[in-house]
Amino acid sequence: MMQASLWSLVTTSVRPTCVKRIVPGLTAAQQRRYASTIEADLVVIGGGPGGYVASIKGAQLGMKTVCIEKGETLGGTCLNVGCIPSKSLLNSSHYYHLAHAGELKKFGILVDNVKLDLERVMEQKRNTVKALTGGIASLYKKNKVEWVKGHGKITSPNQVNALGPDGSVISTINTKNIIIATGSEVTPFPGLEFDEKQIISSTGCLSLSQVPKKFIVIGAGVIGLELGSVWQRLGAEVTAVEFLPTIGGVGIDGEVSQMIQKMLVKDSWNFKLGTKVTAARKQGNDIIVSVENVKDPSKKEELTCDTLLVCVGRRPYTTNLGLEDLGIERDEKGRIPVNNRFQTVVPSIYAIGDCIHGPMLAHKAEDEGVITVEGIAGGAVHIDYNCVPSVIYLHPEVGWVGKSEEDLKKEGIEYKIGKFPYLANSRAKTNAETEGFVKILVDKNTDKILGVHMICSCAGELINEAVLAMEYGASAEDVARTCHAHPTFAEAFKEANLAAYFGKPINF
Ligand SMILES: Cc1cc2nc3c(=O)[nH]c(=O)nc-3n(C[C@H](O)[C@H](O)[C@H](O)COP(=O)(O)OP(=O)(O)OC[C@H]3O[C@@H](n4cnc5c(N)ncnc54)[C@H](O)[C@@H]3O)c2cc1C
Repeated sequence: MMQASLWSLVTTSVRPTCVKRIVPGLTAAQQRRYASTIEADLVVIGGGPGGYVASIKGAQLGMKTVCIEKGETLGGTCLNVGCIPSKSLLNSSHYYHLAHAGELKKFGILVDNVKLDLERVMEQKRNTVKALTGGIASLYKKNKVEWVKGHGKITSPNQVNALGPDGSVISTINTKNIIIATGSEVTPFPGLEFDEKQIISSTGCLSLSQVPKKFIVIGAGVIGLELGSVWQRLGAEVTAVEFLPTIGGVGIDGEVSQMIQKMLVKDSWNFKLGTKVTAARKQGNDIIVSVENVKDPSKKEELTCDTLLVCVGRRPYTTNLGLEDLGIERDEKGRIPVNNRFQTVVPSIYAIGDCIHGPMLAHKAEDEGVITVEGIAGGAVHIDYNCVPSVIYLHPEVGWVGKSEEDLKKEGIEYKIGKFPYLANSRAKTNAETEGFVKILVDKNTDKILGVHMICSCAGELINEAVLAMEYGASAEDVARTCHAHPTFAEAFKEANLAAYFGKPINF
């Protein structure tokens, strides 16, 4: 009787719910005995933005879909320790900064005795993460995607095992197709070990229990700038050490990068550019960071901080997936090579998101998830990486898509620039958010939009209009002749297009 009820627990779990297949109280050997076999059309390994979107799409297209995710919650890096918690902290720290730095006075709002309740800031973040990760679990139920909680290991071109924490097999899933969406992990810094309290990765940086006094960030890319901003607004003195001579990471327009730097220096950031960290050691409560100039290594310096954030990038995560036995090799950066239908060298096994080529961005992973599944169902597969936008959630925000001026010069493409300052935008004026500009780069001969770069309030929203224009091959004139609501920030985009196509905007 006892055995029958346990058996029903594991075998009836193919119903469309989020199933935990570990039966409580069983030894590893018993678990193995009760491990179930599932038949599926599609198995997705990883429930991050790439994997969860692919799973839902698969189910919506009528495939019996199983998603294997090893984490306690769905949503991957993005929802648990990436995009979402970082944006929650950026938002809260921005409000604190407005109140604390007296920025609200100009709106006639007088606040005294402003205090920070860091625990409440963290609670707001945790609630947001909980609501959104729980939302994906609900979407799985709604769309009849089965979640098997475990570590996915591919055992053949058409079979995946879900392993428990002790490595025992919880479920064996026979399937027509497999999508690997296992994402990425923090790249470690040689010689530095994360204790996630003083020497921290981006993950530890999202949960500090006190505001650092002296905060050093190694790497002034997108994540380093965002997380540095959080703690600078909350009171830390921030120094960013960056190997490159510029900040903001790959693909950013030089003019925009310079403006971000000026803006952050105004906020009391220190920058050590063209500088590399050679070592770091703990000394009492401090961390001593040794740095040297990239061009002239004889120029050395020691910096002191109480908290050191290592933000030198992320690397694909493909540990214990079984790839070696299947003959799936990885490239020099640890990525899984795929063809233009996202197929690996094994035709029934696909890979998407951070574990393959391209920018490590949630929306890129999501789009790949959708088109890969559509391709499996017989549809066309197309993605234009030139139309994948990037955003840095500073204040004002930074957004870009397509080519930068540096790219166009390198490629020898003749271009025109249309630029519009936020100072002349009526909505920006009413909101007292006049810092920044929108810059459009268009083909000199055809007027086709080649790149859009903006640093201004709500750039993260506005950039999507630019993406839409570029996806449809719009010219600057097309946008300039499109009616835009007034007063809106988006009018700055229209005016920049007018400047590009006609030579002059109306309102500047
Ligand atoms: C601090 C920070 C801020 C970020 N901010 C942004 C942002 O604002 N916008 C943006 O677009 N991107 C942002 N990113 C990047 C974004 O989080 C990633 O690009 C995105 O999460 C990639 O999605 P993915 O599905 O490929 O992988 P992931 O989100 O990494 O998901 C992979 C999932 O697979 C699971 N997994 C791995 N191996 C196995 C296995 N063998 N079996 C079962 N499960 C497995 C993991 O547990 C994980 O849940 C940020 C990242 C960080 C760290």
